[in-house]
Parts: sequence; structure tokens; C-alpha cells
Amino acid sequence: MSAPLLSDVLPDLLEEIVFLLKQQGADPLEAPMRALKIESICDCGDENCASFATAAEVKVANYVELPAMEGHLIIDLNDRGEICFVEVLGRPDVKYLLEEFFESQKQ
Ligand SMILES: [Zn+2]
Repeated sequence: MSAPLLSDVLPDLLEEIVFLLKQQGADPLEAPMRALKIESICDCGDENCASFATAAEVKVANYVELPAMEGHLIIDLNDRGEICFVEVLGRPDVKYLLEEFFESQKQ
């Protein structure tokens, strides 16, 4: 299975993130954000965690914390300024959709 596009799995979250990026003046991240693929889901085991990696290698050099209405959304960037990880905490809606999608892919 090739990595699915974020826009296919979590379209509502993507629009929410793009809206918040613009509020933060981080508009240049919109285009790369829309092209992101979900490489893997965070395996930390935390009940509140619905984070996912968007690059094969996650090396965080910088981050943008977004003023989410619910939960915490943090965009992690590597040293080349590419988005490598999206931290999603306290968002059961996102966790549910992520798990649904990846469960359905296993069969
Ligand atoms: Zn986690």
C-alpha cells in the first residue's frame, strides 16, 4: 500500500490546519500541507494522541504550533523546512477517522 494523501484521509482536518496556518502567517506551508502523505501513525500508545508522520524520516528541527479550537495541533518541520510530522492531541474525531482508515486498509 502506498501512503495515502492527508487530503483523502482527513480532508476536514486539512482545511482546519490550512485556515490556522494562514492565521499564523504561515501561508507558504499551505501547498506542501495539501500534498502531504500519511507515512505512519504515531505509535506512542497515548489515548489522546492522533499524531502521524508525513515523511519516512522524522527529524524535527522546527515547529509551528497552531491555535486550534479543540485539542493541540503542531506542525513539525525538518532542517530543510519540510513537514515531517503532524502532532494531533486531544482530538478523538481525528483519531477515529485515522483508525477507521488504516483498519480498512489491512483487509
Ligand atoms: Zn503519539
